[in-house]
Amino acid sequence: QIAYLNGEFIPIEKAQISPQDRGFLFGDGVYEVIPVYGKKLFTFQDHLERLKNSLKATSILNPLEDDAWERLLQKLVDMHPWKNQYIYLQVTRGVQMQRDHLPADCLSPTLYAYTNELKPVSEAIINQGIKAVTLDDIRWLRCDIKAITLLPNIMMKMAAKNQGADDAILIDRDGLVAEGTSNNVFIVKNDALFTPKNGSRILPGITRSVIQSLAEQHSLPLSETDITLSDLENADEIWLTSSTKDALPVTELNGHLIGQGKPGPVWQKIQQYFEETKQQFIQQ
Ligand code: PLP
Repeated sequence: QIAYLNGEFIPIEKAQISPQDRGFLFGDGVYEVIPVYGKKLFTFQDHLERLKNSLKATSILNPLEDDAWERLLQKLVDMHPWKNQYIYLQVTRGVQMQRDHLPADCLSPTLYAYTNELKPVSEAIINQGIKAVTLDDIRWLRCDIKAITLLPNIMMKMAAKNQGADDAILIDRDGLVAEGTSNNVFIVKNDALFTPKNGSRILPGITRSVIQSLAEQHSLPLSETDITLSDLENADEIWLTSSTKDALPVTELNGHLIGQGKPGPVWQKIQQYFEETKQQFIQQ
């Protein structure tokens, strides 16, 4: 496996960064995860735009021009045998010898990227769905930035596991559904789709927007709206969406079955539309 680090392609186990990197010391960095189908970068422009927004919001220098990003990531993909991959990339503010919350001027960002095989979601999940619990969202108020600082997400994911669930759906300070620990939330009620509005409380998921356009193309009613805990509990279907897993059906919430306790009919449809979109994309 080859990784890219600050201008060089090297075996992943040889990649090294300074412990004085602000990413290591402060979690001072941002990241992206980009899915690759048939060796082609899927929804690349959307991921690039989101990366640029995260960099701008944190005043971290963007180390590359748009086309250089694309060339670099495509080269990384082409160095590996898998047709379907997911690229992880992160940009930190850089190495600073004096530890100081305030960044020094003229730091050069650290750019690290690697790729791995993207495996399909397991048959068990496709057939049975996953279990989720609701938890108070303990994160900050800029969840629209894809920051590497993921301690709260990790703590909430561990808390979900401790309760026997696969993931947590986060309830914000106003009692509204925000998102999962690493995914966006959709609910289905009476064949209509609902998802929380974009804003500073959630990450603007790329899979979320793919699903929005699939819903539009196939005339499935969808609205961005506030979702309460009781809307969630009474939903016919709940999905968690992300780049590496598409839409995962949640069939148990807080120990109670959702719908019939099986992946629902609207999920089956969206899953099929998603697969068709990927196949078309590969063949383009
Ligand atoms: N929300 C959070 C907190 C995430 O970490 C992620 C993905 O990692 C998502 C949503 C889904 O985003 P995307 O569909 O772009 O992968």
